[in-house]
Amino acid sequence: ARTPLMAGNWKMNMDHLEATHLVQKVAWTLDDAGFTYGDVDVAVFAPYTDLRSIQTLCESDELRIAYGAQDVSVHDEGAYTGEISTSMLSKLGCSYVIVGHSERRAYHGESNELIGQKAQKVLGAGMIPIVCCGEELEVRKEGRHVEYVVSQIDELFAGFQAADIAKLVIAYEPIWAIGTGEVATPEDAQEVCGAIRARIEETFGADAAAAVRIQYGGSVKAANVQEIMAQPDVDGALVGGASLKAEEFAKIVMFRG
Ligand code: 13P
Repeated sequence: ARTPLMAGNWKMNMDHLEATHLVQKVAWTLDDAGFTYGDVDVAVFAPYTDLRSIQTLCESDELRIAYGAQDVSVHDEGAYTGEISTSMLSKLGCSYVIVGHSERRAYHGESNELIGQKAQKVLGAGMIPIVCCGEELEVRKEGRHVEYVVSQIDELFAGFQAADIAKLVIAYEPIWAIGTGEVATPEDAQEVCGAIRARIEETFGADAAAAVRIQYGGSVKAANVQEIMAQPDVDGALVGGASLKAEEFAKIVMFRG
């Protein structure tokens, strides 16, 4: 069985002082509630400038919150002003890296090909990529969302090995549901997550399809997480706004009650 992954994408929020408070508060809230680490994986995705502080905190207080970055360079090192490499992130104790978030695609012109290359880099550095996909409202209105996302999957993972697919996480985030309060229905989430898994099975085989974790993202909160997580092909949530509040995020992590 796949271990659910509940992930908080902080986006461009929380400086390093706020970050350590938030991580501490999430850990304490989970501890107080008797949360069993290991039944559900939990990770936060902080701005780069927070990661060293989070590492120090997690090591010194032995907190069992995993963390990662929201993007990474496709290059190893050298003259790439402003970029951060996978080896820098792994040295900071990152377990995961988000690649291809719709905000990176929209504001930085990232293509499926580039995002696939970033995912390979992350795997090569021993971390787990969370690879994002999802359709715009227009595509959804035209009823083309399943074929659109499946073709994103084909382009993202062209040339990947089945063993690598089995390790990674795919996040389905319909763009019209991000930060809008507009949640896809559980059936909408299942329709696309199920289609993604079916395509992975066709291309990479049954073992990869059974292992790959597929998250839903878009206006997930404590009040709706349970019905989303009840869907057979949804293995976790990628949470934006609601992950900035410790108690709300802890409730999401503890969706099983
Ligand atoms: P919201 O949860 O704020 O809708 O954001 C979703 C998201 O983009 C997570 O990556």
